Amino acid sequence: MVQLGVHSMVWAGGWGPQEREHAVRSSAEAGYGVIEVTAPDPSQLDAGATRELLREYGLRATCSLGLQPETDVASEDPDVVARGREVLAGALEVVRAMEGDVLCGVIHQALTRHTRPLSDLGRRHAVETMAWLCEQAGDGITVAVEVVNRYESNLLNTTEQALAFVEEVGASNLGIHLDAYHMNIEEAGLRRAIELAGDRLAYFHVGESHRGAPGTGSVPWDEVWQGLAAIGYDGKVTFESFSSAVVHPELSSALAIWRNTWDDGMALAVAARAFMAEGLTGAGLEVA
Ligand code: MN
Repeated sequence: MVQLGVHSMVWAGGWGPQEREHAVRSSAEAGYGVIEVTAPDPSQLDAGATRELLREYGLRATCSLGLQPETDVASEDPDVVARGREVLAGALEVVRAMEGDVLCGVIHQALTRHTRPLSDLGRRHAVETMAWLCEQAGDGITVAVEVVNRYESNLLNTTEQALAFVEEVGASNLGIHLDAYHMNIEEAGLRRAIELAGDRLAYFHVGESHRGAPGTGSVPWDEVWQGLAAIGYDGKVTFESFSSAVVHPELSSALAIWRNTWDDGMALAVAARAFMAEGLTGAGLEVA
């Protein structure tokens, strides 16, 4: 059974008391069973209060983040790597406190425009850090590294690279997080890439080519649904979308969200859920 989720930035740029109440309640009202809580700075997120809201509205949560240059675990500088590990440890605490089961996103490197190829030392630091993180996470939490486009990572741009990376780390609770928006830029074919990931696929982002409403851009969605069905995917499929209508000061800039692609998060989320459910069930998968 595929579980449908929605990214918190569809509702709010921050996670203060009113923002998180709005985000969790709206996710439930739009028919989702999962909300992905983005935590660029886990130390600033009240996970206990979030857990209470999740219980109240009957939702499950996942947690995602993108590391920053000063917390880049693929840095050559051990002090920078150590700061990155502190952030990741904090994120794991947030996942546990929210009773979640997935930590995903660009957690293997800084989410930024890299202007040089990654060095062997930087790659080794990323591999060692993911091995450490998976050990910290233990059996109950899946760690999923997101494959993103070349302007946001110089480590994992394709599924093929992610498979090799995951193999190198060698942890059973490490998986691949794919995102149609990024795949549409880097992969030769979306269905082929999903099939290549196979049972290592641990999380999936439904993101349109312009990061707006799904079905209104150039992502070949039938390939996505057919690929997920071909591997018998039974994890979470989360709708991720960004607009200048909802801004997080650092994250929105790191992702180059300069344009308004929508204003009404509720109309967007309801339509996106219907779009995903129709595509997935049409391909033969069951959704919750
Ligand atoms: Mn994504």
